[in-house]
Amino acid sequence: MQGKLYLVATPIGNLDDITLRAIKVLKESDFIAAEDTRHTLKLLNHLEIKKPLISYYKENEIVKSEVLIEKLLEGKNIALVSDAGTPAISDPGAVVVKRAIEEKIEVVPIPGACALINALITSGINTQEFSFLGFLPVNKKEKREKLNNLKEEKRTLIFYEAPHKLIDTLNIMLEEFGERNIVLARELTKIHEEYIRGKLSSVIQNMQEPRGEFVVVVEGSNEEFQKNRYKNLSLEEHYKIYENQGLEKKEIIKKIAKDRNTNKNEIYKYFFN
Ligand code: SAM
Repeated sequence: MQGKLYLVATPIGNLDDITLRAIKVLKESDFIAAEDTRHTLKLLNHLEIKKPLISYYKENEIVKSEVLIEKLLEGKNIALVSDAGTPAISDPGAVVVKRAIEEKIEVVPIPGACALINALITSGINTQEFSFLGFLPVNKKEKREKLNNLKEEKRTLIFYEAPHKLIDTLNIMLEEFGERNIVLARELTKIHEEYIRGKLSSVIQNMQEPRGEFVVVVEGSNEEFQKNRYKNLSLEEHYKIYENQGLEKKEIIKKIAKDRNTNKNEIYKYFFN
């Protein structure tokens, strides 16, 4: 008989945030597949659990998935954990899950901590519909493009962001989204847990050097606001916004036409004929 693949959520800060079922599964599994075995060992020592560990991290996910699948097919039960929170959410896990499903191996979630959900539920921003974007691209141009594509998204937006990139990201959000309510959920479940709430511009203005772990929750787009956003700008001012972002002439014309819901040839004629 085949074994089962358990996806076990672990704490995101406070070690007490682990379920009784998670402890039971960790104790009863044959192997624990861990993103960083040294990191997981600390948790296992805290829980007084001794188990053989298999390292399973992003860079070796494809190769290690096959090792795990082989063991599962031999009938071994495997608990997969990441460094913190829910596996496969901006963390390794998805590759072996897909392979297990292909092999008709049972995949079982063991629910628990997840930073995005806890940031959302404490944000005070609409929880009815939301989009989780994970980490934004490292490349600045790609990051801006991604945010630009999200500016009309009405659902609440949730991002993970590293502290040293946070201010830059918030500034681009302000340029692309305009003024919005946001919440920075910092160091969730830890001693220095903190929520920084307010309009994008005032959060940026009051920001000290960011430290610790952050989830960024951004209010969705307001249709009225988006409609009027460019209405009061002259075409020259509108052009300048995109020029300052380093965009090429052709791209600027295309964007202005889209923002103003007009034909790009007319915009081209206005500037260059
Ligand atoms: N799998 C994890 C989960 O379930 O949330 C996420 C892992 S991802 C590699 C790490 C990112 O999650 C951090 O950079 C931060 O954006 C967010 N994060 C994780 N723990 C957090 C915490 N305690 N407080 C705030 N953000 C946290």
